[in-house]
Amino acid sequence: MSFELTVLGSNAALPSFGRHLSAQILNVDSSLFLIDCGEGTQIRMMDFKIKMNKIERVFISHLHGDHILGLAGLIMTLGLQGRSKPLYIYSPSGLERIIDVQLDGNYAFPVHFIVTDTRKKGLLFENKSVEVFSIPLLHRVPCNGFLFVQKTKSPNMRKDKITEYKIPYNKIIEIKNGADFLTQKGQVIPNSELTVIPAPPLKYAYCSDTAYFKEIIPMVKGVDLLYHEATFMHDLLDKAVKTMHSTARQAAEIARRAEVKKLLLGHFSARYKNLSPLLDEAKLVFENTLLSVEGLTLSI
Ligand SMILES: [Zn+2]
Repeated sequence: MSFELTVLGSNAALPSFGRHLSAQILNVDSSLFLIDCGEGTQIRMMDFKIKMNKIERVFISHLHGDHILGLAGLIMTLGLQGRSKPLYIYSPSGLERIIDVQLDGNYAFPVHFIVTDTRKKGLLFENKSVEVFSIPLLHRVPCNGFLFVQKTKSPNMRKDKITEYKIPYNKIIEIKNGADFLTQKGQVIPNSELTVIPAPPLKYAYCSDTAYFKEIIPMVKGVDLLYHEATFMHDLLDKAVKTMHSTARQAAEIARRAEVKKLLLGHFSARYKNLSPLLDEAKLVFENTLLSVEGLTLSI
């Protein structure tokens, strides 16, 4: 069971200092989800040996160029590689028109555009492993983040108990669903003795781009990993407010108030060569903070 994040790009607006534009790959049980697709995303996937044809779904936060300009190129490459299976792209309204113009309406395989409602949390997609929700964000254009929630697994059967009580195969599903077991001698074995509670479902939240927006706190409460944009340091708060971005301190404040387990900072302004001061600023508010490192895969 995998639930792993690889950051492909961590910069805001333009590439700088070896950092690239927003894009991430989330691998959930071998289904690949692409989150945002800045210019050069396909190159980054080649750099990090991501099998791009395995991408099933693309989740786009908003239509600013630094989050979408890699998409037409990626779709073209997938077509040239002979892709036939569909690609599903979730985004605020308007993306289909932009991609249509760039590709002149020529798609080599089915591409489905699904429009998100950026004003409220909503379920976008689910399969047997995961549910994906949109989260409203506060930016200069309609924008949403995404919340990926692993599905709760049923309890695991204890193999030693199957042998000990000679539990027939046809009873195992019932026991996994919570039933006790009645032995041939009439002894009731409680379910708690027969099963192991699985680990709680993992959660990953992606929040970029956004001004400080306390309304998201209940939506990302307790997530295992929160990616929150930290375009500026707090001495540039005026600039952050004006451009509707966040500072590192504000990102940490959201993490602290939402009691998340870990915070991942990203979407760094091209003015910062050294990112350590952003990390230090965030850590003063929320200790368990990391900087996005492109190419590094985090197990969530
Ligand atoms: Zn933006």
